[in-house]
Amino acid sequence: MEELQAKLAGCGNKLIKGKKRIILCVTVTDMLRKMSTEASSIAQKLKTVLDKIQVASDKRPQALQYASPLLVAVSKTKSLDMVIEAYDAGQRHFGENYVQEVEEKGHDIELLDHCEDIKWHFIGRLQRNKVAKLLGVPNLYMIETVDNERLAKAINDTWGRLNKPAPIKCLAQVNTSGEESKSGCTPDSTLELVRYIKDNCPHLDLAGLMTIGSFDHDPKAGINPDFQTLVQLREDVCKALNISTEKLDLSMGMSADYEQAIVMGSTIVRIGSTIFGARNAPQSKATQEEAAEQAKEHEQDKSTQEEAVKSQTSKMKNLSID
Ligand SMILES: *Cc1c(COP(=O)(O)O)cnc(C)c1O
Repeated sequence: MEELQAKLAGCGNKLIKGKKRIILCVTVTDMLRKMSTEASSIAQKLKTVLDKIQVASDKRPQALQYASPLLVAVSKTKSLDMVIEAYDAGQRHFGENYVQEVEEKGHDIELLDHCEDIKWHFIGRLQRNKVAKLLGVPNLYMIETVDNERLAKAINDTWGRLNKPAPIKCLAQVNTSGEESKSGCTPDSTLELVRYIKDNCPHLDLAGLMTIGSFDHDPKAGINPDFQTLVQLREDVCKALNISTEKLDLSMGMSADYEQAIVMGSTIVRIGSTIFGARNAPQSKATQEEAAEQAKEHEQDKSTQEEAVKSQTSKMKNLSID
């Protein structure tokens, strides 16, 4: 890079006469310099995050020291070049929120050629009508957002039809904060969902639990109750299924709170803006449409659930009258 810059700067003096061409050379040199600092900054930011992960890991109580936390670099709305940049810096696990976007990136020829060992985590709201598309993405490693039985079954059946050598890793997503805007099953129904997957979905490998948690909690204000809920749920689930807690991952912690999450036992952290910078709006028109659809389906699911609760309540009322 430096050699190229020197050559380009030199060309202004030696080869090309005339003001315009010199300006062009200077501009190209500036561009190259800018590219090289941006490139090293993703690598630097990754290194900073990995160092902090290490420090937080060392602070964990002895019982939680059994695993090093996995860093998932969340590349939603970020360019393929940035993904490749991070890959070149050694990062292998990447998180995406939109099926459309992970499909475009995952099928890209240059990426397939250059990033053979990439591992995609799907961390967005997943609609059943997009399951087939998502499961067709090469190097899909894990679906972190399975939050209901119908979705689990759809993934199971589709993965089964694809005749893959191993089941697909999934996490049960829990809405620990109870906020309506967040996906996830309720803490109360987590065990039921986990049991359903274990008993009915041979093509899913239930690898753990995931939560987003409330954005309002300030990590400086003390222990995040959402993380505490997820830790407790893992205890409960493992006890009920008679498996050791080490068998189930906990995916919790984002840019603002991953250090605390790790100290509390997180084994997967999903970090976006700290590595890649502030998020952009969804890039392609298709992704924007998907974002809108996701929001709409979420609304519909909510009203279906409300209907179910209402009819259940009225049944119960009728019963008590009889
Ligand atoms: C966007 C996103 C992240 C990353 O968030 P940052 O605050 O940018 O680190 C993590 N998890 C999920 C589910 C996300 O949607």
